[in-house]
Amino acid sequence: MNPQKVLLYYGFTPIADPVAIQLWQKNLCEALNLKGRILISPTGINGTVGGDIDDLRKYVKYTKKYPGFKKIGFKWSQGTGNEFPKLYVAVKKELVAFDNPDEIKVDEKGVVGGGQHLRPEQVHELVKERGDDVVFFDGRNQFEAKIGKFKNAIVPDVDTSRDFVREIESGKYDHLKEKPVVTYCTGGIRCEILSVVMKNRGFKEVYQIDGGIVKYGEKFADDGLWEGSLYTFDSRMAIDFSTKTKVIGECEICQAPSKIFRNCRTKTCHELILLCDSCNDLPASSKCTHDPSKVRDSEMVG
Ligand SMILES: [Zn+2]
Ligand SMILES: [Zn+2]
Repeated sequence: MNPQKVLLYYGFTPIADPVAIQLWQKNLCEALNLKGRILISPTGINGTVGGDIDDLRKYVKYTKKYPGFKKIGFKWSQGTGNEFPKLYVAVKKELVAFDNPDEIKVDEKGVVGGGQHLRPEQVHELVKERGDDVVFFDGRNQFEAKIGKFKNAIVPDVDTSRDFVREIESGKYDHLKEKPVVTYCTGGIRCEILSVVMKNRGFKEVYQIDGGIVKYGEKFADDGLWEGSLYTFDSRMAIDFSTKTKVIGECEICQAPSKIFRNCRTKTCHELILLCDSCNDLPASSKCTHDPSKVRDSEMVG
């Protein structure tokens, strides 16, 4: 069997007929035996698909034939062939659910008015020049940062991307409005939106990492400013960038070092929590302290 890989990608570009793109992508993936999740909106495409390396290469080649998708940077990572239970291709109002579809404008070059893109080595140059003034700002859901984040990063209090606008407008981060702020997320797509939200609300110097943590990790692994594992929205649950990845998370019950998210042991609760192997083996409990009204992004792909 050929190596199994996972692709993660997004591209912002005006799409006049998202349904036509949906059908084309669905047929393409089915023909190539790929599984995963692809979202299409009037502003672009966001996907993660897994399969055989040769089939994925063909997928990239054909997807790039659509003019708006030519410039997409596809991020490759190691797979097993079992990351995704099925193929899901859907049309959405927003590529990432920030609940601000009217705020985001795209043209052929991408999102209009977002933060400046920095390649991983440019992130280091910025830190070298500006030192401690540089603020790293996590653009993911809070729980993702429990197992890995940039050292000293600010982790906003968000359960889903829909919470970001309220969080940014809360005033909590107003002291950062004059500082260089580097936003980061898994593959970069959430920062495309978040950086617009921040700039539109008075943050003067906003950057985003090109290709997100995935690209940064490929370049610097565990020898740079990143610390821990990277949460992924598939059955891998997390990836490490080297064999010496630090475990920064703790089991919610016994505080042993842990980086494995599992379902809460209370049957009616859907919270994903960090549990070590032995605590996960304990009998299911009847009650927990989690908020049952809490919802998570379930369709996030980058
Ligand atoms: Zn434990
Ligand atoms: Zn719970």
